[in-house]
Amino acid sequence: MQQERKLNLPAWIIIGMLAGILVGFIFLKIGGTFTTDYLKPFGTIYINLLKFMVVPVVLFSIMSGVISLNDLKKVGSVGIKTFIYYICTTALAVVIGLVVVNCFKGFFPVLDSSVTAGLEYEAAEAPKIMDVIVNIFPDNLLKPMVDTNMLPVIVIAIFFGAGVLAAGEKGKMIANLVESMDEVVMKVLMMIIKLTPIGVFCLMADVVAVNGAKVVGSLALVVGVAYIGYILHLVIVYSLGVKFLAGMSPIRFFKGMAAAMLTAFTTTSSNATLPINIECCNDMGAEPEISSFVLPLGATINMDGTAIYQAVATVFIACCYGIDLTIGQMAMVVVTATLASIGTAGVSGAGMIMLSMVLLQVGLPVEGIAIIAGVDKLFDMGRTTLNITGDATCAMWLSKVERRNKEKLAAKQ
Ligand code: ASP
Repeated sequence: MQQERKLNLPAWIIIGMLAGILVGFIFLKIGGTFTTDYLKPFGTIYINLLKFMVVPVVLFSIMSGVISLNDLKKVGSVGIKTFIYYICTTALAVVIGLVVVNCFKGFFPVLDSSVTAGLEYEAAEAPKIMDVIVNIFPDNLLKPMVDTNMLPVIVIAIFFGAGVLAAGEKGKMIANLVESMDEVVMKVLMMIIKLTPIGVFCLMADVVAVNGAKVVGSLALVVGVAYIGYILHLVIVYSLGVKFLAGMSPIRFFKGMAAAMLTAFTTTSSNATLPINIECCNDMGAEPEISSFVLPLGATINMDGTAIYQAVATVFIACCYGIDLTIGQMAMVVVTATLASIGTAGVSGAGMIMLSMVLLQVGLPVEGIAIIAGVDKLFDMGRTTLNITGDATCAMWLSKVERRNKEKLAAKQ
């Protein structure tokens, strides 16, 4: 059964996506709201199904990852490596985004002040860095799970996993329970994952029907620039990463990731894509205890695509207001976009909300977000794809490190 799914799913997802694009174009021509009224709801059902599994997936997969690492020191060392890798690739992503957008900024329009004055964007309050850090640590066991607030859920999972290890023999029963729950959760996911081609079809048809007409002129240009950044990051950073760190052929990696990348592209949610990402990485030979720890963490804190988008959007908005960013401001963009992307939740549209934090930090008008808000979905599709692919590169790298450690240990014995 496993084999059958592996062979068919990516192909079916591509078919679903292409059919969705075709139907979307037809309804773009015909007009009306058929896709939004009757197709999108099925896409929403699919996303809801994936979303309700996010908390159990993260909770049980991180707990079981920590338990199977079998040693608290090892949990710390994997955790630190993961965090450093994520920060470095995200900072690189912002730099790539800034370089690309600066190459194109001569083509961006300076909007008439009567236009920019009329813009309104109700900025969701950008959280302060210290608040973000404090809120990682929950004051209640259940609330973060009910609110799907993933950073505290991760903290809870790590603490309980560590607790099971520390309890030794007496914790064995819980360890078995967690392992069994992890298995059950994955089986439920398999059932939901089979619906991906249908979900992708419905979502894609609506995206094309709704956004097709909006992508004209400079908006198409800025979306295109973001995609150049995404592709460069994918080709340069991820290919080199899997080649030299994970010792894997980039082509094999991207082939293995096809199902997860296509799901991310259409659901625009790292959280919703997490189960498929875990599956793809394990199929490519990742160590399950590593992927079940590194990927949920990445779905929550590692957002390279979001970082590129924030760099591109910031420079674009500055241009629209006739503002030329200084080198100092660009450096500020690197720092804040890296931090903002860590604080971005792995859900659809979250990156645009966090963009207000970057704009505020560099002193740009937050209302500028209104210029690009209409096509955020298009940015989001690419950035989410990148976000989850980055997580997978880290999982493949650390799996290799783990395998090597195991071999060394075996050789010693
Ligand atoms: N949708 C993105 C994700 O889930 C976050 C974002 O909006 O940038 O990874």
